Amino acid sequence: MDKNTIFEALDYRTNNPINVEVEKGYIKRISECKEELDSAYYIAPGLVDLQVNGFKGIDLNNLELQVSDVDDLCEVLLKKGITNFYPTIITNSDERITSLLTTISLACENSAKTNCCIAGIHLEGPFISLEDGPRGAHAKAFVKAPDWELFTKWQHAAKGKIRMITLSPEWAASTNFIQKCVASGVVLSIGHTAASPEQIQEAIKVGATMSTHLGNASHAKLPRHQNYIFEQLASDNLWSTIIADGFHLPDSLLKIFIKTKPNKTILVSDATSFADFPAGDYTSHIGGEVTLDSSGRLFIKDNPNMLAGSAQSLLWCVHQLIEKKILSLKDAWNMASIKPTEALFGSSNNLLQVGHKANLVIFEKNNKGLEIIKTIQSGAIVFSKIN
Ligand SMILES: [Zn+2]
Repeated sequence: MDKNTIFEALDYRTNNPINVEVEKGYIKRISECKEELDSAYYIAPGLVDLQVNGFKGIDLNNLELQVSDVDDLCEVLLKKGITNFYPTIITNSDERITSLLTTISLACENSAKTNCCIAGIHLEGPFISLEDGPRGAHAKAFVKAPDWELFTKWQHAAKGKIRMITLSPEWAASTNFIQKCVASGVVLSIGHTAASPEQIQEAIKVGATMSTHLGNASHAKLPRHQNYIFEQLASDNLWSTIIADGFHLPDSLLKIFIKTKPNKTILVSDATSFADFPAGDYTSHIGGEVTLDSSGRLFIKDNPNMLAGSAQSLLWCVHQLIEKKILSLKDAWNMASIKPTEALFGSSNNLLQVGHKANLVIFEKNNKGLEIIKTIQSGAIVFSKIN
């Protein structure tokens, strides 16, 4: 038997040493490892990121985006333990959105590996709030009411790969739009919203099942009792995605969000092209001049209180929650691996369990945080730091 098909490491859930045997892309057997391991590596399901705008110089919303950039992004993310991700296209002109979606779907057609990494596309906008604050950094000129015909054109350009859309239900047309989206198999996530509690409830009633980066892209001040954050937080039907990079939400709010929905919280990176860059000043096509400081915080150079997106990976977010003792390794990892799949598909097919797909990560905890040692996709080692 090929020795690469058996992985020996600590089970991320129990700390117990296990052998994970992989055959034809699936987990065939998991058994207790009798011998002492010569390393303290963990094995866990591959990470799944529902919100990636870019990474390490690659910007998915750059109009010059090439098919090779999408392939390169997959490679970069595999090194960070991401076996599946959802390229996120934000508000832009109709033609530009079409063009970016076309490039991503072409990349999937041209490369089996890229197609394996990209589980779907996340369209974030342009059917969001016009208001400053909830709109975030999205360009006001291109924000518009939900338009099913337009969305159908985009889905066609994406070859059916749009799997999730972030929308604000404050538009009158949203009820009808949400119903059509959900019927077509697209997951509807509420975000970049200034909707009233009633509008949020209506969106949930007709099929919205998620909240996009809850607590971010909102007004600086909200009514203390009735507001769109509490309304979403109170709904048992909505999954929350949160940016747990340590900068987008204070620890107290992270704790509240997680405690309120321990089984329905998902970590996302919302990473931009500045992720994995060294500290320094950069120019962003969205935020103008931005600064990445040595702590990893990305902000508008002239307005340090204003974040300019995230410069951190999903792996970093997992580590933040463990380091701050907000979650155990097991729970934090699950929120970044099996929970996203469960939210989108109703159940996870990527558990560390016999019969499940062998999308796996071997990693260690060291003084740098969490470090990926190997990434395994459909049973094949696609990244290895060691021999
Ligand atoms: Zn956003």
